[in-house]
Amino acid sequence: MPSALPNDPHSADSRLRARARQVIPGGLWGHMRAEAVPAGYPQFFEGGDGALVRDVNGRDYIDFMCSWGPIILGHRHPEVDRAALAQISAGDCLNGPTEHAVRLAEKLVATIPHADWALFQKNGSDAMTSCVTLARAGTGRRKILVARGAYHGAVPWSSPSLIGVTAEDRAHLIPYDYNDADSLDAAVALAGDDLAGIVVSAFRHDLAQRQELPTEPFANAARAHCDRLDAALILDDVRAGFRLNLGGSWEEVGVRPDLAAYSKAIANGYPLAAVTGTDRFRQAGETCFFTGSFWYGGAAMAAAVATIEVLEREDGPARLRAAGTRFAQGLTRSAARHGFDVTLSGPPAMPIMHFADDPGARLGEAFCQQALARGVYLHHTHNMFLSLAHTDGVIDTALSAIDDAFDALAGHRAVPAE
Ligand code: PMP
Repeated sequence: MPSALPNDPHSADSRLRARARQVIPGGLWGHMRAEAVPAGYPQFFEGGDGALVRDVNGRDYIDFMCSWGPIILGHRHPEVDRAALAQISAGDCLNGPTEHAVRLAEKLVATIPHADWALFQKNGSDAMTSCVTLARAGTGRRKILVARGAYHGAVPWSSPSLIGVTAEDRAHLIPYDYNDADSLDAAVALAGDDLAGIVVSAFRHDLAQRQELPTEPFANAARAHCDRLDAALILDDVRAGFRLNLGGSWEEVGVRPDLAAYSKAIANGYPLAAVTGTDRFRQAGETCFFTGSFWYGGAAMAAAVATIEVLEREDGPARLRAAGTRFAQGLTRSAARHGFDVTLSGPPAMPIMHFADDPGARLGEAFCQQALARGVYLHHTHNMFLSLAHTDGVIDTALSAIDDAFDALAGHRAVPAE
């Protein structure tokens, strides 16, 4: 079996990890800790260009994680960088926002059918927390329905970890099961006359699980409950926003939210989040106190306007769907040729990969290691992301390396049986 990984103990990455362990608790924080990526994956990076990302060891990979979502046009997109850098050279962090704040709000209101207004933050967690606050302020009620297993950010009300979190932080959350209208009915009943909002993900994209698009009966039921009870339907479009539909991901299922949160891809990697809302929640938007020292920076907003313009001009979601379909078909065919049963679920622009009979995703992890050794950066338990830099040529180059990776995996698997 070929050596799986480039990350030897003397590599620049290994040296940085050792230094980090001394001065950063756990070596790194959150999902970048070693256990979140296949063993031996690099943790430190040096740069990116188009569909390529370069690790600190100087190795380039065809990147199917896209910085875990933000890179939607490709790394260092010239038009976006030009817009951002123009503002950086004029001054980014000023005494208040730049004109780009208004341009971007106008752009979102023009592009997203439910949006009558927009507010800006930095991270998806900020945007989702703002949505929950707006729902409570706008309804004067407390209960928020959240799907079991869904991720909405790393703050006490939503973190997947309970360490350091109090029961009070979660006191007014009621769980339901995504795509299960009966469980939603039951949760709504439990909220009684105290329902402030129902939080829905763009689709079911829970870690390590098969992804599911929202069904129409579920989406319609969520909308109907909110209409009947005058509660807020809150769409968490942080991960999927702008990849599936520029008007918001639930345009695909024909249901419009009252409030929606975006981040990740909105500015092709520049730090920004947004909340859009209907006039029903405009007054709440006027009265809630939302702010942050860096929430007014002009460069990321300039980058967002440019990103959305490119996506519109290039028919972004359709191209991402086509690129993802080519990737999925090639990968699953290659797997089958080597005797592996691999499925990719979810929207083609952001698929998750599963090997059949693979508890703990061990086989998936071994496959990712083989692909990494051949210059392709995949993930075994998180959904991956396509960008507009994933042209047919780039995907075909990746698929050829992926075919070699399956070959190596098949050889490796055959060893114990011989
Ligand atoms: N919601 C969803 C669906 C997400 O995927 C994420 C980030 N992975 C968040 C919220 C939180 O966003 P952030 O990490 O920018 O705070």
